[in-house]
Amino acid sequence: MYDVIISGAGPAGSKCAEIVAKSGFKVALIEKDTNWRKPCGGIVSSRIFKYYPQLRKSNFQQIFSISMYSPDFYNFRYSWKNMLDPAINVDRLEFDDTIRNVAIDSGAELFDNHISFDFITKDNQNIGIKTRTPSGIKEYLGKIIIIADGMSSKLAIKSGLREKWKTKEIYTCKCAIMEGKNLLDKECNYFFFRPYKGYGWIIPLNDNKFNIGAGLAKEANVSFNVNEIYSEFLHDSNIKKFLPSLNYKEIWKAAYPLPALGVKEKCLFGDNIMIIGDAAGFVSPISGEGIHASIVSGNIAAETAIMALANEKISRETLRRYKSHPYIKKIIRNFKLKTAIANFFFENKGRNLSKMFQLAEKEENFRDELVNMFLFNQAPSKDFLLKLK
Ligand SMILES: Cc1cc2nc3c(=O)[nH]c(=O)nc-3n(C[C@H](O)[C@H](O)[C@H](O)COP(=O)(O)OP(=O)(O)OC[C@H]3O[C@@H](n4cnc5c(N)ncnc54)[C@H](O)[C@@H]3O)c2cc1C
Repeated sequence: MYDVIISGAGPAGSKCAEIVAKSGFKVALIEKDTNWRKPCGGIVSSRIFKYYPQLRKSNFQQIFSISMYSPDFYNFRYSWKNMLDPAINVDRLEFDDTIRNVAIDSGAELFDNHISFDFITKDNQNIGIKTRTPSGIKEYLGKIIIIADGMSSKLAIKSGLREKWKTKEIYTCKCAIMEGKNLLDKECNYFFFRPYKGYGWIIPLNDNKFNIGAGLAKEANVSFNVNEIYSEFLHDSNIKKFLPSLNYKEIWKAAYPLPALGVKEKCLFGDNIMIIGDAAGFVSPISGEGIHASIVSGNIAAETAIMALANEKISRETLRRYKSHPYIKKIIRNFKLKTAIANFFFENKGRNLSKMFQLAEKEENFRDELVNMFLFNQAPSKDFLLKLK
């Protein structure tokens, strides 16, 4: 019998497993496939070093500026050379492996090639999870169950805490890692907003390698096809200026959805269950950045579980602390505001964006807030919102 069972060893699950295991409780970390590369841009803001100081010594590409383009190709660039820590661009296979190992080194037991698919129930209580493994079905019993298995989580739905995502609640993205000579500044991330609800990106991973992708948001999923907009993005003459070669080696490619409307706050906890990370919508509705918020949710859920286990009270009432923690409340509030701002970005076929970029060039405070909001997930001030109006 485990104290805590965590389904999913991505950023949310690995951080949660690490914190609970460090406090001496018995943790099972269930993972579908550690060789799966999560489809992702891989941009991680400098706030990651608070949770993983060891990453300061990693070889991930450091980023010191951001270049954003409106749909009419108005360019706004911002640099932060004098900041203490840079942002980093990571390959998710390597990044997830690194942070999963931190959890294992802290004492969590990893069960790889295990697909969790249902709960084990007794007297109307979920007391464990059932998994499919290459050697048959295996069952794990636990006092607290944490659902961290991402967007396509089956357990989140089976728990009854949340429904399936609706088309208008998601971003659909397609991305690839490519290799070849390019004209990118390797210390800069590039974002290209499109005239429909969506954007593309080019994210350097080193001199020769980059992550490229494009996505659709919410109702644009109904009118457009992600394969088509991805191909159109790759062949856009403005993108070709950065990627002049005719042939780039495609190392990996995948399409995947992510939550577009912020945290599903009503679904976060139940009797001896918590949902964390993408499975609960911890993704910025503006930038699609979810690694940081997922790690924060994993950390707070872990602290909540430790307290509940120590007091031998694992009821819904005790787990409420997860949702009411100031960090979680701040993320929920912040993402609600950003959902409204993201809508504003794309009004008038994205023309609001070129106006914003022009304003950002003239006014230092506005510029700083725009970048912090997009890249560091910070909430905009009242003054910023007034100027937008
Ligand atoms: C195309 C794209 C681009 C993105 N770009 C960025 C970016 O640049 N920066 C950023 O911060 N965020 C980005 N995000 C969001 C980011 O990827 C997620 O927010 C983050 O990975 C969430 O972490 P998580 O641990 O909650 O879920 P995940 O990273 O999805 O991890 C879930 C884990 O659960 C496992 N799993 C799934 N099902 C099961 C099962 N049934 N049983 C057991 N294990 C299971 C998976 O294998 C995986 O390891 C992007 C997302 C997408 C789709």
